[in-house]
Amino acid sequence: MPTKIAAGNWKMNGLQTDMLELQLISKAAEQMDCRTIICPPTTLLGNATKFSKEIFIGGQDCHPEPSGAYTGDISANMLADTGASYVLVGHSERRSYHGENSTIVRAKAEAAIAATLKPVICVGENLQQRKSGDAIETVSSQIKDSVPANSEIILAYEPIWAIGTGVIPSFKEICQMHDAIRALLIKNYGSIGQKISILYGGSVKPSNAAEIFSATNVNGALVGGASLKSTDFIPIMRALSKS
Ligand code: PEP
Repeated sequence: MPTKIAAGNWKMNGLQTDMLELQLISKAAEQMDCRTIICPPTTLLGNATKFSKEIFIGGQDCHPEPSGAYTGDISANMLADTGASYVLVGHSERRSYHGENSTIVRAKAEAAIAATLKPVICVGENLQQRKSGDAIETVSSQIKDSVPANSEIILAYEPIWAIGTGVIPSFKEICQMHDAIRALLIKNYGSIGQKISILYGGSVKPSNAAEIFSATNVNGALVGGASLKSTDFIPIMRALSKS
């Protein structure tokens, strides 16, 4: 069975004072039958790994190279050095604002694995691709190009049009996409493909989490806005734990 994962992406949010939210989430995680990962901004990583022992901590991005003249970037080794154990790669905001294509995303995922981090590889179609009926084809080709031949990965399906909008795909659309991703993972990895966690991301809230988690091949969520407050995120963790 794939591990059930509730992952929070804090994006460019969070100061030292927000460590309290992390500690509340960490405390709640003790009671949950799922794994919790929080990806805070880089500035909070050191304290997060030290003071939130019940959860796993991840970076939000890493450079493909282990070190070098890349001002402002952070390597997978550096993330691992803070005690982080996961890293997001290929988030749609990195793909669109930083021009990252699937080749770069794959190199980042490989760098993460080499540094003993688990990459959470994000894929997802835009609204036009959804409307023209090309969503599954788009996501399949992103997976083909951005996922390395290694089973130590987590996949996050995040339709771009659902991120931060409050709009989510229908339950049927979520099931169709996650079933298609599972079939592709099994084709690529054989029986190991059964064990890779596939997360849904895009406007997950306490009010819609239980329904989303009832889909067979949804093994958790990657949550943006609703991961910033423990009062929003803990009910999502609970819904996953009960699923
Ligand atoms: C995200 O940024 O990965 C995300 C899913 O954001 P939100 O939950 O706010 O839609």
